[in-house]
Parts: sequence; C-alpha cells; structure tokens
Amino acid sequence: MQKIIIFDTTLRDGEQSPGASLTIQEKLVIAKQLSKLGVDVIEAGFPISSDGDFEAVKIIAQKVKGPIICGLSRAIKEDIDRTWEAIKYSNRPRIHTFVATSQIHREKKLRKSKEEVLNMAIEAVKHAKSYCKDVEFSPEDAARTDIDYMCDVVRGAIRAGATTINIPDTVGYAQPEEFAKRIKEVFEKVHEARKIVISVHCHDDLGLSVANSLAAIKAGATQIECTVNGIGERAGNCSLEEVVMNIKTRKEFFKGYFTGINTKEIYPTSKMVSQLTGINVQRNKAIVGRNAFAHEAGIHQHGVISSKETYEIMDPEEIGWAGENLVIGKHSGKHAVEKVLKELGYDLNTEQVSEIRKKVKELADKQKEVMKEDIIAITNDMIGKLSEEEEIVKLEEVKVIAGNKVTPEAEVKITIEGMEKTGKGRGLGPVDAVSHAIFSLIDPHIKLKEYNLKAITGGTDALANVTIKIEDKQGNVFSADGINEDIVMASASALVKGINKSLAFKRGRK
Ligand SMILES: [Zn+2]
Repeated sequence: MQKIIIFDTTLRDGEQSPGASLTIQEKLVIAKQLSKLGVDVIEAGFPISSDGDFEAVKIIAQKVKGPIICGLSRAIKEDIDRTWEAIKYSNRPRIHTFVATSQIHREKKLRKSKEEVLNMAIEAVKHAKSYCKDVEFSPEDAARTDIDYMCDVVRGAIRAGATTINIPDTVGYAQPEEFAKRIKEVFEKVHEARKIVISVHCHDDLGLSVANSLAAIKAGATQIECTVNGIGERAGNCSLEEVVMNIKTRKEFFKGYFTGINTKEIYPTSKMVSQLTGINVQRNKAIVGRNAFAHEAGIHQHGVISSKETYEIMDPEEIGWAGENLVIGKHSGKHAVEKVLKELGYDLNTEQVSEIRKKVKELADKQKEVMKEDIIAITNDMIGKLSEEEEIVKLEEVKVIAGNKVTPEAEVKITIEGMEKTGKGRGLGPVDAVSHAIFSLIDPHIKLKEYNLKAITGGTDALANVTIKIEDKQGNVFSADGINEDIVMASASALVKGINKSLAFKRGRK
C-alpha cells in the first residue's frame, strides 16, 4: 500500500486568496484542526513576507504537534534563515524553497540565465539543508518549463539534499494526460527521484487542479499539495476534500493508495475555514457544498428513500456532515453544548467553553431553539475575537432611525484608545447609515470593499452573520465578521472589527 502524503497549504497559498486574511489566533485554530483532520504536512506561511506571518508560523511550530510544520522561502539566504527561525520550534520542521524555472519567469521576472537559476536552486537547498534534514524544493511554473531543463534543476536539487521535489502547475495551465507525462518523465530522466518524494501543486485556473493531481498520483507522485475548500491564489488550489474523497470513494480505481485523513473531520474543517477566512463555499461545491447531499427532484428523493445508493455515492456521515439539526432548546443543559463543540472538533479551554455556553443560553432565551449552525457561528466569532492590543477601536453605542418616510440616520459612539467620539451618518438604509457614521470617525483611507449578510438559520429571529472586507490605503485587505440577532449590530461589529484589524496591521508594520 502506498500512502499519499497530504500537504496542506490552506494557511499559506490559501491565505493568499484575494480577500482572505487571518489573524495569528485564527491561523493557530485552523492549524490545530488540520492536525485533527490528519494532514501530514502543514505549510503554515511565508515567514519573510511579514512579521505577522512569521509570528503565525512560529506559534504553530510551537503549539501544533503531529504534522510536519513547513515554511516557504524564496531561493534566497535571508528567506531561508527567517523560515528556520520560525519553524525550528517544531519537532518535525521542513523548509520549502523555490525558484521559477520557466522561460517566461526566468526572463521577465528573474532576468537570469538557466545556469544562474540552476545555481540558485542548488545553493538554496544546500543552505536549507545546513539547518534542517527535511527540505522541499519547487521549480516554480514547472508545468510551463522545458522538460529537460526542469529535470536538470530537479536533479541538482536532489543532489544538494532535497528530500521532496514538488512539481507545481503554478498558473493552472496543464491538462491531466500532459501533467501525468511530465511526472513520469521526472522518474525516467532523474534516477535519484525514485529515492525521494515527488509532489505536485496544481492551481485551478482551468478547473483541472484535482484532475491533474489525481493523474499525477497514477504517474508516481506521492505527495499532493492542496487546500481546504480549494481556496488559494486566483481560482484557487487543488481541493483537499476532493482529492481525498476520490481516493477513498474510488478504491478500486486508486488501488493500493490511501491517505491518513480522518474524513469525518472534513466538513467541520471546511466550515471553520470558510467562516474564518470569510470565503463562502459555493452551494454546489463537490463534497462540502451545502447542496452536495441534497436531493431536490421528486424522483431522486423517492430513489434515495428506497435505497440510498441509488443516487448517493458517498455517505454524508463519512465526511462528518452535520446538517442543520435542531439541537438545543431553552432547557438543554451545559452538556449539550459541550457535546456539540466536541463533535464539531473544537479544542477549547474551559473558559472559552463557558463563554460559549453563556452566549448560547442568551440566544436560547431570545429565540425558541438554537441550531448546531448557531453554535458554530458563536464559536467562530469567539475564536476570531481580537486581543486587547488589537482592539484599538471599541463600539460603545448605536442608535438608528429608519422607515419608509424618513431618511435613515444613525448615531454611533466609539472609543479610540480611550477617547470617546460620536459620529453621525445618513444612508439608503439603517446599515448604510451606521457604516457612514462609523467611517466618519476613522482614517478616510480605510474603505469598505465588500459586504455580505447571511441568516445562519431560517426565520426572522435567526442570528445574522455579516462578513465584510476592508481595504487600507496600501491595498491590504482585511476580512472580519459580526454575529448578532440584529443585522444593524452585526454589521456595526463587523465593521469595527475590520477597522481594528487594519489598524493593528499598520501598527505591526511600524
Ligand atoms: Zn500555489
């Protein structure tokens, strides 16, 4: 049996998705969940890119045990030094270094000759190896690189000490047969490749990232780089859940292959990642979309009722599908909440659990019943809570006048580092008015880029979940969310949280 190594890059490539940005605390929570999911490698970040990224990788290396903790570095000495500084706390550290090898990247981006790029790769691997025995090397844009040159670089990197070679389709250009052929050729042309791990990293620009990764397995690749929900640069990466469930569901086709993933953790992980990154999963997404196991057409429903297998090739329970079952009423005890949290895979301390219990009880007092989804939202909201230092702006009071005969008006009281300020705003509706009132009090360069509102469960008494994206002067984007029974309050707290994230980021930069 051949184990396929699942290399998760949700926190590195996934976090580079336009619009996704996670706090250090959020990254740590996701990393702990990834470890529970059973991934083999966590690529925790790109330490040289910012101080925040460095801190996140360091704390994950310190606190998350089980998987290999990996940091990304360009083929530059300082990058590799910085990565090592962050990952050295792990008992299983890995340095991942890369340099672009395709003609277009070499000429337009690096302005270096083939010879120079080959030397950069060799030097980088040697330098990484001086710190760490586990070294991965990627020839960036490999899928568009001349195969013989790519093999020269791969051979050079292996001889310099690389223990994993990753062949990325950086721009999502390859077709499955073509990509599989490239992997086969690596084994044919580079004899050293048989003694190490060959990995692939595919992007989804043409919707083929999963197909290309699966084709690569058949050609001999034994590590797949992927992300939860397939998030990532542009159209995203190969989706972890799709690759894993293909191997599991089509056992006879992928005979002899298996992964170490605990598939029951797939759905909770997907939920957590979408909530914390603010990137919603499309309804019809394979495996984890809301409709993935819904049967609408009468004839299908009839079939499923008589025998599940008529239309279902996977059992929803296999991926930990929670559904929207009613769980907690006004009189349910604390054990019920604890049980749900445990089922969902959250690893929380007693203080956090009791805070969630308090909030659930408050909600149960106001609405008849609390659904599992409500508890997930409350929990994620609490996990994403800003630290005291990060909470520069505090929301104190919100007043709104709205109706069909008046122009909606809002008055907002906030404190900025202890200084109380009151702002007024008008708008097309109450949320718009509150947003204007808040923005009138802060740096005019901070702008609202995106606003999403969702009712977590049905009914007008449902919890409202507002997710927003804020952009600062330099074009950095911060996502934040707010949860409340009142959409105006949910919006206000999401806005204030987003503003705080951008202010804290600016401070961290100084
Ligand atoms: Zn990538």
